[in-house]
Amino acid sequence: MKQVLLVTGGGRGIGAATALLAGQRGYAVAVNYAADAASASSVVERIRAGGGQALAVQADVSEEAQVLAMYARIDQELGPLTALVNNAGVVDSTQRVDEQSLARWQRMFAINVFGTLLCSREAVKRMSTKHGDTYGGGKGGVIVNLSSVAARLGGAGQYVDYAAAKGAVDVFTLGLAREVATEGIRVNAVRPGVIDTDIHASGGQPDRAQRMASAIPMQRPGTASEIAQAIVWLLSHEASYATGAVLDVSGGR
Ligand code: NAP
Repeated sequence: MKQVLLVTGGGRGIGAATALLAGQRGYAVAVNYAADAASASSVVERIRAGGGQALAVQADVSEEAQVLAMYARIDQELGPLTALVNNAGVVDSTQRVDEQSLARWQRMFAINVFGTLLCSREAVKRMSTKHGDTYGGGKGGVIVNLSSVAARLGGAGQYVDYAAAKGAVDVFTLGLAREVATEGIRVNAVRPGVIDTDIHASGGQPDRAQRMASAIPMQRPGTASEIAQAIVWLLSHEASYATGAVLDVSGGR
């Protein structure tokens, strides 16, 4: 059966590493991006150069109309979705909670939580083996959500709002997994530790990954490819009995 995967935020960092690895494993990959079209196109070109099928699709995952349009395009150009990686995510600058604004929290939850919920809802409609008006009689599928060890540690003094959003992702993973367990859909999460990507620079701390090394039992940040390996394993049939699981990939942190 053809495997069609959507990776949100697939142009850079962990999402790009996941899209590339899945492309090598034979998935047709929709590489979503919000703003950086060039990076997403480059991931698509690399998958195609390896003989795979890929498509770059723009959508802000926190905007419902854009998510619906993205799914319509994937349906048309790649076929019904069988796998989803909810990877798109943001941090913000270091601030105590008593300094943070409602606007900051709204963006944090809109992208990290509501984006994950919106993309999952549309995926379930396509994957579920349940028949009915909303459901198209899908053939099952797999969802992997990107959480963070911040959900366990709390993010104090840095970004408690981000940690709270990732905590919501963990609970959503468990609940959705149980809700669709008999409909051919598995739902799991990966909780990365400190991974060397551009996300730290976007929060105003470009050297964070290296600076944190001594606080990590393995004494180094992880790589995007080390997280991609865990995600692609959870997507695969090798993980056929894993659902509702949250897998820490964090160098022991
Ligand atoms: P990154 O390098 O900053 O890349 C983030 C990706 O998300 C980009 O492709 C970006 O797209 C996309 N994105 C951001 N906002 C979006 C939106 N509204 N709609 C669609 N796409 C959007 O991040 P990363 O480090 O690879 O992180 C990936 C995931 O892992 C995130 O969920 C993050 O919270 C989680 N994580 C990361 C770490 C870490 O240390 N790196 C640790 C724990 C968890 P554009 O390029 O188009 O802007």
